Amino acid sequence: MTQLATPPAPARAYTPDPDPSAVTAAGLAARIPVPVQLPCRLDGRRLEHLSASGYRLFVECPEAWRRRYIAGERSPKNAGMVIGSRVDDALTDYYRHQLQHGEQLPAEEVIDHYQQRWSDLLQQDAERDQIIFDEFDETTARQIGAAALSEALEQLVPQLGEPVAMQRRVEFSLAPGVQWTILGYLDLETHQPQIDGSDAEVVVDYKVKGANALSQIKADRDPQASLYLAVRWREGRPATRFTFAQVLRQNAKRKTTSTAQTHTERTAGQHRATLARFALAASQIVAAYQAFGPERPWGFAEPSHWRCSAKYCAAYGSCAGGSGL
Ligand code: SF4
Repeated sequence: MTQLATPPAPARAYTPDPDPSAVTAAGLAARIPVPVQLPCRLDGRRLEHLSASGYRLFVECPEAWRRRYIAGERSPKNAGMVIGSRVDDALTDYYRHQLQHGEQLPAEEVIDHYQQRWSDLLQQDAERDQIIFDEFDETTARQIGAAALSEALEQLVPQLGEPVAMQRRVEFSLAPGVQWTILGYLDLETHQPQIDGSDAEVVVDYKVKGANALSQIKADRDPQASLYLAVRWREGRPATRFTFAQVLRQNAKRKTTSTAQTHTERTAGQHRATLARFALAASQIVAAYQAFGPERPWGFAEPSHWRCSAKYCAAYGSCAGGSGL
């Protein structure tokens, strides 16, 4: 068995910005220790970041997190993921052009560019991950992606507001002396004029979904929305809301493409709670590493969770929490 790396340095306390209006949340957060370092991967490199997706994975299945981030196991990308990535790339290019040149590209040009780049970007994906065209073959996936992009440009983009930034990298540590950071990339930040003459500041995340639109309950609890709104709050310029800008693409049952937006907000107390949750997850990661090491299972997902299935977990066949016994 691999030996544990150098023992981690003692934890620092997470001390949120003082806000007398939320003493309870601040007091709770202040009691949560923040580890100075995250563990090392099996290849010897120390982990330096925790992202919203990494946090979500750890909370849902510590063992899946260990396999992904400590052991470096990569999951295959399926057709739906490929479509989502390509539409995301095309919308990013669209907003990059607008921010750099002050003009909106015609939809036909954006879709032409999407078509031209499909093969090259797919090749780049295939160099990192196995690609499995499960739900559709490649040609169909490309067509469905083009329809999703067209719908996004026609229905979503006019409603998302004036872009201020796209794919902005945000990174910060939770306490002085802590050697790892919370890292994220915000798809899009916009200004949206309101009926009353005010200006809403919005953080937007694009999603291409084969399933139904995100429910309000899920949006109100989503860790990505929570983190990115907490980031804006930490920066001293809180956003008015977070919007999931969704394209509901074709799937086996749905023959048409449509769009949906789900908006969500957070209070200052919820921002503090989000950062406290990340602090605690980091401490739990270090504790799991110290208790179980880098090669033994860390804790299995709830078996009824959608993730713990042959369809959604690449480890299902080899994990004792799946069917690997
Ligand atoms: S099979 Fe289940 S328990 Fe095992 S890694 Fe996957 S989600 Fe986690």
